[in-house]
Amino acid sequence: MKTEATIVAITGAGGGLGGAMAKRLAAQGAKLALLDYDRAALETLKASPELATAECLIIACDVSNEDAVDQAFTEICGHFGGLDVLINNAGITRDALMIKVKDGELVSRMSLENWNAVIDVNLTGVFLCGRAAAERMALADGPGLIINISSISRSGNMGQSNYSATKAAVAAMAVTWAKELARYDIRVNAISPGFIGTEMVRAMKPEALAKLRAMIPAGRIGEPDEIAHTVQYIIENDFVNGRNMEVDGGMRL
Ligand code: NAP
Repeated sequence: MKTEATIVAITGAGGGLGGAMAKRLAAQGAKLALLDYDRAALETLKASPELATAECLIIACDVSNEDAVDQAFTEICGHFGGLDVLINNAGITRDALMIKVKDGELVSRMSLENWNAVIDVNLTGVFLCGRAAAERMALADGPGLIINISSISRSGNMGQSNYSATKAAVAAMAVTWAKELARYDIRVNAISPGFIGTEMVRAMKPEALAKLRAMIPAGRIGEPDEIAHTVQYIIENDFVNGRNMEVDGGMRL
């Protein structure tokens, strides 16, 4: 698949990695449908110089809401006449230890609210968007591509029961969907970024950042464009299917 003139939907496009993907793909001539909870962030992205000449549709959409997702994908296909690529990128964290006991007392535990919030966006959201995109791609007789954004945390990270569970799940769903959807000429892959220099990571205290860098064999955190570059590679290489690309500077959790 070429990137030029390809219709690409990116969820969570108002955030750090989604924005980097939108900018790189726009530079390659892709047509973009940018989805996020936060319309203001999408408007800021659309107004950025990198997107000045891109054909770009913005849609405010909660990926965990079934009706909103189905409406959004109908709007995308109505606007562009179809959909070639979905990047399932929207994700949140609500970190907490599952339980914390001190001096014989239970001091805290991960709330069901924080468990459900992460499951709703990172897992149900990926399912709903993946299903909406796959239906439309299959009915159009492909070719199509879905990329689920997982994480290095998929293998189990302290304080992230909810997040790690969802990121393992979306990597597994990429394999499942690759098997189910190949007959419709739809490829499905996952990308598992390590620590990437989005605003959240860059805002960490210098001591914490130094500790983090020391854990990464590459000796640095990743650049958002290095994840965007991986997206472009997967779009353009039709033999990459059912795989999880680990882009983490060699770090293991
Ligand atoms: P980010 O800057 O927080 O971007 C995520 C975007 O998703 C935000 O704009 C957020 O909007 C949006 N969003 C949240 N809930 C949503 C919902 N229900 N419906 C639609 N959009 C929603 O995060 P990021 O660092 O770019 O991460 C992007 C993806 O990469 C995530 O899946 C994350 O788990 C994964 N990842 C990131 C890293 C990293 O180091 N940055 C590493 C591994 C994996 P609001 O701001 O309004 O909440």
